[in-house]
Amino acid sequence: MNIIVVGPPGAGKGTQSARVARILGLPHVAAGDLLRAVRAQDTPLGYTARQYMDAGQLVPDDLTIRIIEQRLAQPDAKDGVILDGFPRTVSQARALDASFARPNGASKGDEIGLYLKASREVVLERMKGRWICQQCGRVYHILHVAPTEAGQCDVCGAPLFQRSDEAPEIQARRYEVYEQDTLPMVDYYRQRGILVEINGEQDVENVTRDILAAIDARKAALIALELRVMAKRLQTAADQ
Ligand code: ADP
Ligand code: AMP
Repeated sequence: MNIIVVGPPGAGKGTQSARVARILGLPHVAAGDLLRAVRAQDTPLGYTARQYMDAGQLVPDDLTIRIIEQRLAQPDAKDGVILDGFPRTVSQARALDASFARPNGASKGDEIGLYLKASREVVLERMKGRWICQQCGRVYHILHVAPTEAGQCDVCGAPLFQRSDEAPEIQARRYEVYEQDTLPMVDYYRQRGILVEINGEQDVENVTRDILAAIDARKAALIALELRVMAKRLQTAADQ
């Protein structure tokens, strides 16, 4: 199953995607991480990514879609992935649908969209306190998900850092971009009937619990659908 995690910046998409990926044994594909790797390159593409990311803007669709499609073409993605932060625009969602629909695409129509809802106030506070491990990428919050030793990762002991796009005016810009470009994409998934809203303002464990329940419900619905189709086929064969 492909699990698509959407929501405002700072809603907890990365935190939850990493937890659910560990529990379900699926690869965690984070658009922001893939683009940060491009951004770090001393190439024209790296320069382009840097310009947009440092301004709190979305990286252009053509570049972002190409990077994600390359990742989804890797063998480990063939049984499904957890997509974190992609799509963020309607064009990206359409490109993803097309990519999943290809004969060797990573989906058999069994995706679910999880919309982590949290208010502007909550996500700005979360971004402000976000610290990330330099080495393993684990995400902390200075108050809500604090490391045992200040400034040091619990998992690998490496130092923690704050992202360069975490300045208050850039955070505010990223929220505006979410409202303008990403909310229409959320509606696109809602209309397709694959979107489940999750209250992202709860604590980390309760959000994970609701996400796992939504995934189980979707799997049960897909199995029920498959059984109905099989029963219909058997009935048609018996009638002939
Ligand atoms: P996103 O990937 O959506 O931008 P993150 O997963 O990086 O969000 O989370 C943003 C910040 O909020 C991080 O500091 C993280 O530790 C913290 N955080 C994530 N989920 C919760 C939660 N349910 N309650 C409190 N803080 C959270
Ligand atoms: P994130 O790590 O998800 O907070 O993303 C960090 C930054 O990467 C964003 O502010 C954008 O500049 C860029 N980015 C991440 N995902 C996308 C996407 N799907 N489309 C375009 N830009 C993206």
